[in-house]
Amino acid sequence: MSDHRERLKLAGYKLTKARLAVLQVIEHADGHVTSADVLDGVALVDPAVGRASVFRTLDLLTRLSIVRPTYIGTSATPYYVLLPGGHHHHIICTVCSRVIEFAECGLENIAILLEERLKVKLTGHLLEFYGQCADCQDKIAVNNED
Ligand SMILES: [Zn+2]
Ligand SMILES: [Zn+2]
Ligand SMILES: [Zn+2]
Repeated sequence: MSDHRERLKLAGYKLTKARLAVLQVIEHADGHVTSADVLDGVALVDPAVGRASVFRTLDLLTRLSIVRPTYIGTSATPYYVLLPGGHHHHIICTVCSRVIEFAECGLENIAILLEERLKVKLTGHLLEFYGQCADCQDKIAVNNED
C-alpha cells in the first residue's frame, strides 16, 4: 500500500474508488497536475468516478497535506503538486518560467520554532524561490553587452 493510501486510512478516510483513482493519477503524473489532467486521468482509470468526487478528493488531499495547489507559469488554473514527506521545493525562473525541483530543505528548525512559538501543528510546506535560471542569466548578460 502506498504511503498516501496509508495516510488516508490513518486519518480515518475510506479508500473509495474516487480517492484511489485520483491518487493513482497524481502519483503517476511526475509531480505536477492540473485538475483537468486529473479529470482526464481518472476518466481512463475509472470512468464511473464523477467530476464532483474528483474535486472533493482534491480538496481532501489538500487538507491532509498530501497535495498542494500552486500556480506555475502563466496557468490560470492551479497545479496540484505532491508533498512527499510533507514538502515540495521549487525554483521558478521569472524570465522563462521553467520550474527547477530540488530536494534540499533546511526548514526543519524553522518548523519546530514556529510550532512552539505559535502553537501550530505543521503538516507540510511548499517552498518556492524565484529568480533567473542559468540559461536566462547568460541571455541577459549577452543582451546587456550592447
Ligand atoms: Zn529561465
Ligand atoms: Zn514540483
Ligand atoms: Zn522542505
